[in-house]
Amino acid sequence: MDFFQSAQVQNSNLFKVEYIGTTWEERQILCVTISKDVATADTKPALFYTGTIHAREWIGIELSLTFAKYILNHIDYDPQLNALLSRATLYMVPCANPDGYEYSRTHFSFWRKNRRQNADGSFGVDLNRNFSIGFTPNKNTTSNVYPGPSPFSEPETAAIRDFFEAHDNIAIALDYHSQGNVFFPAHNFIHEDALDATDLNVLASNMAEEIRKVSSREYGVHMGKPPTHLISGSGREFYYSKGVLALVVEVGTRNISDYMEHMSENINENLPALMSALAEVPNYDKHHRLPRVNAFIATRVGAKEVTLEWEYPEDEDVYFEIYRANKPKSFCQSANCVGMTKSATFTDCHLNASTNYYYFIRAVCKKRKIKSPYAPKIGIRTRPEVNMFSKIVG
Ligand SMILES: [Zn+2]
Repeated sequence: MDFFQSAQVQNSNLFKVEYIGTTWEERQILCVTISKDVATADTKPALFYTGTIHAREWIGIELSLTFAKYILNHIDYDPQLNALLSRATLYMVPCANPDGYEYSRTHFSFWRKNRRQNADGSFGVDLNRNFSIGFTPNKNTTSNVYPGPSPFSEPETAAIRDFFEAHDNIAIALDYHSQGNVFFPAHNFIHEDALDATDLNVLASNMAEEIRKVSSREYGVHMGKPPTHLISGSGREFYYSKGVLALVVEVGTRNISDYMEHMSENINENLPALMSALAEVPNYDKHHRLPRVNAFIATRVGAKEVTLEWEYPEDEDVYFEIYRANKPKSFCQSANCVGMTKSATFTDCHLNASTNYYYFIRAVCKKRKIKSPYAPKIGIRTRPEVNMFSKIVG
């Protein structure tokens, strides 16, 4: 954490360090703000990063540290990064559970909760069950998922809530955990039918694709099926309930002991993923979004081609990007962008017969340099090929 302090001293126009709360054992909870001309940080849309809310999941701290160092070392050379941090802000709470982390470091590496002394003499509340959305009381204080006496009863979660609520500019929230090599988008309670389910899945899939490019490692994307897999009282659902796109990222396949040796490779593959999430922040500004495309449908499906149509308010500066994938949860990157058009219809040719395809669309404003959220994706199956030759022979 000394790094952040010295970064602030050396680069006070880019870094700001503050303490947003104090734990049971009176440790400070640090939050770092990174933005060009940091005094204006709160006026730009922001990415909110939280790490190590579970004490033993040290990757959250390490990744934030590496990300901050990367930014510091590249901001003057990388024009894209420079432009991005002129338009967007990064808030990072590298360690949301300092007491638990310290206990995990010095006493018991598999410790998960914070270090509240419960009334019965046991220790700890699972901070990621202590937020308000879906909070589920449970009196079993020795449980690893003991949620605490009431929502936000813990100084750590109260500090995060207060910071989050004071920063209405937050557009995307990423909560880093280990392990599993998987993204868990926020639960929308109606599952895949929510208007922004496509946004959550594409955000996660784009991050997963960045990871795959670095290390060939495949991260899954699981929205889960509420209520069975609904996590009660987690930070992710709290952020999402305030209109913020929220994901949990589970990094790595191992925990502490032998994961230490894989930490650097896990971190390296996650840096470009983080960057891709940061790049989406201006597109998900809660207050200045470009409207998404309406009534996106396939109007004609043949064996080799499909025609798509949609509706959009008249806007001279807007065009549309259409992406095609073979699976319902897909990244949307230049590699699978099959169309760019100003009209409200597009025909995709050269498809294979009897094959499933999925289409994604977003509007792009050249002037404002922002893209809209995605319309809900559509899936089609091309018709079987009509084989004239076989008919003649038959
Ligand atoms: Zn965790």
